[in-house]
Amino acid sequence: MSERLTTEQIERYSRQIMVPDLGGKTQMRLCRSRVLVIGAGGLGSPAALYLAAAGIGTLAIVDADKVELSNLQRQILHATADIGRPKVESAKATLTKLNPDVEVKTHPVRFDASNAEQIAADCDFIVDGSDNFETKFLVNDIAVKLGIPFSHAGIVRLQGQVMTVVPGRSACYRCLFKTPPAPEEILSCQASGILGAVAGTIGTIQATEAVKYLAGFDEGLLTDRLLVYDAKTLRFREVECRRDPQCAACGAGVPSSIHLG
Ligand SMILES: [Zn+2]
Repeated sequence: MSERLTTEQIERYSRQIMVPDLGGKTQMRLCRSRVLVIGAGGLGSPAALYLAAAGIGTLAIVDADKVELSNLQRQILHATADIGRPKVESAKATLTKLNPDVEVKTHPVRFDASNAEQIAADCDFIVDGSDNFETKFLVNDIAVKLGIPFSHAGIVRLQGQVMTVVPGRSACYRCLFKTPPAPEEILSCQASGILGAVAGTIGTIQATEAVKYLAGFDEGLLTDRLLVYDAKTLRFREVECRRDPQCAACGAGVPSSIHLG
C-alpha cells in the first residue's frame, strides 16, 4: 500500500472521506487494516460487504460450510448459482467484484481451538458472525488472549444482540455470560428461524463498530453495554455491563496463557 490514495480510491471512497470524523488519513488506515470475519452467514454477509465497500485492506473469512438454498434468505454474500459452493469461495467472488482493492483471504475450516490463534494472529479487529456458543466463547477467549478488539453478536427469530469488546479496557463476553448455556436453552437460527433483515441490521452494526475502532474513535464504541434489538416492536435497549474481576478470560487471576477448549 502506497503512502497516498490513488485518484480512483479518492473517488471510490469520496462520500466517507467527506465525513468530518473520517477523512483521507482515516481512509489510508482502513486501506491498511486487516479484519477477520468469522462465518460467511447471516451476520458475516452484511458485515463483510460493508467492510469491503469501505476499503478495508484485507478481509479474512472463515467458514467451513457450503452454500445451501435455505441460506439465501439472509446470507446475502451468496446467490442462487452458488448453491453447493464453499461459502468462502462465494464470499471472495462477491467481495472482489464489489471492490477489487480488497484482498480477501479464505479459510475453509471450522474456527476451533486448534486453528483459532493462528487464524486470528495478525488481524486488527474480529467480527464474530458465528452461530453457536462454543465458537462465540472461543472467539472471546482468543481475542482477549491476543488483545484483539472484536464485535460479538447473536441473532434469533426477530431479535438480535451486539456488543464490542476491547480487551483490557471493556467487559468481555465471558464477563457477562460466564459459560455456554445448556443445550436445551439454546434457540438456534437453524431450529428457531430468523428474519433476514434482522441479521442485516446487527451485522451492519458490527461493520460500523469495526470501522469506528480502526478509524481510532476513542469514545462512542459499543463497549460495556450490550445492545439488544427487538424487531417485533422495533425497539433497541441497552444492558450495561462491567468487567468482572473474577472473569475466567480477562479477570485479574488469569495467567498469561489462558486455557482454551
Ligand atoms: Zn471478561
